[in-house]
Amino acid sequence: MREIDSTMRVTGRVAALTTAVGASTRPAGQKKDGTTMFFDPMYFVFMLPGLLFMLWAQHRVKSTYQKFSKVPNDAHLTGAQTARRVLDSAGLQQVAVERVPGELTDHYDPRSRVLRLSDGVYSVPSVAAMGIAAHEAGHAIQHARLYAPMQWRTAIVPVTNIGSNLGIFVLIAGLLLAQPTLAWVGVGLFGLATVFALLTLPVEFDASNRAKQALASSGMVNVAEGKGVAQVLGAAAWTYVASFAASLLTLLYYVSLVTGMSRSQE
Ligand SMILES: [Zn+2]
Repeated sequence: MREIDSTMRVTGRVAALTTAVGASTRPAGQKKDGTTMFFDPMYFVFMLPGLLFMLWAQHRVKSTYQKFSKVPNDAHLTGAQTARRVLDSAGLQQVAVERVPGELTDHYDPRSRVLRLSDGVYSVPSVAAMGIAAHEAGHAIQHARLYAPMQWRTAIVPVTNIGSNLGIFVLIAGLLLAQPTLAWVGVGLFGLATVFALLTLPVEFDASNRAKQALASSGMVNVAEGKGVAQVLGAAAWTYVASFAASLLTLLYYVSLVTGMSRSQE
């Protein structure tokens, strides 16, 4: 639930860096005045839709969460109790459920095999809390069942972290030094973050499907509550789609910068 914030941070930092690069790679003749130097229209063409999509998704998940946080569930089960039941019925008694501060900070930690639920989920018997708790339990079940997309994602985490940070600087170095090969290496390194965002999609969709199935089959939710859970988890899913779209658009922007540089060298 919490990955969107880090994506927003990266996108913001990239914004500052690439605007400078976009200006520096432009032929001198196009700089009509001081303003154009720091304004790359292509940057907005590529980045703005992704950012707007992410803001929309984030707003939607927050409003849906707030709406269903106010709807109590008939079984009077808190998020912590829901997670415990889903985990136990999957034979995961050893996975602990803990409380974590913040809003929508819920996550499953695969290293310590602990499920952490935020204040508004852990101790609140709402429809939203049930859905989110069951979703996080779904991640613990994926981990225990060696769900392949989750394993692939975990495997590329170290290179993704290095790649997405280093990639931007390698790209900028390549553009400033007019070295297309170096710039393409930078694009490739950043592309790892896009692959990560892509692999996140099946992992998140599958966790939500497991959650809805577990809640329905155990009889913890009635039909109306099941629909509420589906709305909360559906809204959360859009944030991951938006993150991937924003990452892909950023990648395409970088590709356009490098191909533009390569063309101007011919
Ligand atoms: Zn998730």
